[in-house]
Amino acid sequence: METILVVNTGSSSVKFTLFFSADLQVAASGLVERIGLEGTRLIYRRPGRETIQHLAVIADIGNAIANILPLLTDSRTGVIQSREEIRAIGHRVVHGGEFITQPALIDDRIKKIIQTCYDLAPLHNPPNMEGIMACEKGFPGIPQVAIFDTAFHATIPPQAYLYALPLPLCKELKIRKYGFHGTSHCYVSRKAAECIGRSPSELRLITCHLGNGCSITAVSGGRSVDTSMGFTPLEGTPMGTRCGDIDPAIIFYLMRQRGLDAEQLDILLNWESGLLGLAGTGSSDVRDIITAMQAGNQQAETALRVFTYRIKKYIGAYISALGGVDAVVFTAGIGENSPLIREWICEGLSELGIRLDIHRNQAMNGCLGEIQDTKSRVRLLIVPTNEEAEIAIQTRNLIRI
Ligand code: AMP
Repeated sequence: METILVVNTGSSSVKFTLFFSADLQVAASGLVERIGLEGTRLIYRRPGRETIQHLAVIADIGNAIANILPLLTDSRTGVIQSREEIRAIGHRVVHGGEFITQPALIDDRIKKIIQTCYDLAPLHNPPNMEGIMACEKGFPGIPQVAIFDTAFHATIPPQAYLYALPLPLCKELKIRKYGFHGTSHCYVSRKAAECIGRSPSELRLITCHLGNGCSITAVSGGRSVDTSMGFTPLEGTPMGTRCGDIDPAIIFYLMRQRGLDAEQLDILLNWESGLLGLAGTGSSDVRDIITAMQAGNQQAETALRVFTYRIKKYIGAYISALGGVDAVVFTAGIGENSPLIREWICEGLSELGIRLDIHRNQAMNGCLGEIQDTKSRVRLLIVPTNEEAEIAIQTRNLIRI
């Protein structure tokens, strides 16, 4: 049976999903985590069969990829007979810069572009590239496709992607809004249109990807026209550990007051801020912060109020950018699973046509479906995201299986 393998490589992990090409059902999936660290673990799942899990000595990404193929083809654990049944490999690549606006068959030119964007995504593009090189070695002759997180946002117009800095400087250093989570926004906006029963070309959507990282996107006619993350994933709403939008002058102030350098500021704003920094409960997980609030922790409540207020402001801004909105879509860990956060975001927006049905909001939690009140002019949807499936779809479309 023909399959498509989707690979998502991070700095110390490799996630993979094998899809049957015909119906995009999952054949197997898994993860190698803590690569190169103590306690490297391999987890391998097949629908309806027991999960295989074991500790392994896996020193690098190449080694991790080399451990995956035998599992897929082994007579006991396998789901395919041989590697020839893998028709293509789709790779998640975070940054394609201004150069890449589409899924791309990987060749020397594409690899060079991924490398050119190392400066723009130093934590992501290098391991993504390592995954590609390892798959080229482990799966010779199988077409490799790169699906870029930034690509869906390539349609954002200059009025939305330019920062008001001296233009020659921006051009020279490639400073502009790029946007991220593109694969997720692309998937959920299409699914939302399917769910509503209309063509994406007729719809104005606001998609809220609320996970550990958060981004809000304005989608008009199936195309991204603005998004909250920017030059890096630091811009936008507050997130688990990232601060989101702040007055840039706070950075000079911190440098002068505390003598912080670029490295320390990077850590402070990316890893010690957001919900973690505001709530002060020692966790960035919304579930923990809600539990703390329910136990009477006022600071935890304030953190969640800041979080939802700032998301609400983006929704208001994007209703203006789109000239109205047909549906607001909630996705990712928080967006799909937290009735409270959805409720607080939608609170007080009835003048804008947004009215949540409190009961549906609870009943539909975690599921694909509509959660607006019957009087709501704007539809409100939960759409579970599936970035792996979107990568498989785009890979399949590109190589025309
Ligand atoms: P993601 O990055 O999409 O995997 O989302 C991870 C985040 O989703 C976690 O850090 C939690 O904050 C949040 N999350 C997951 N499940 C729930 C839940 N049931 N209620 C509230 N937040 C949740």
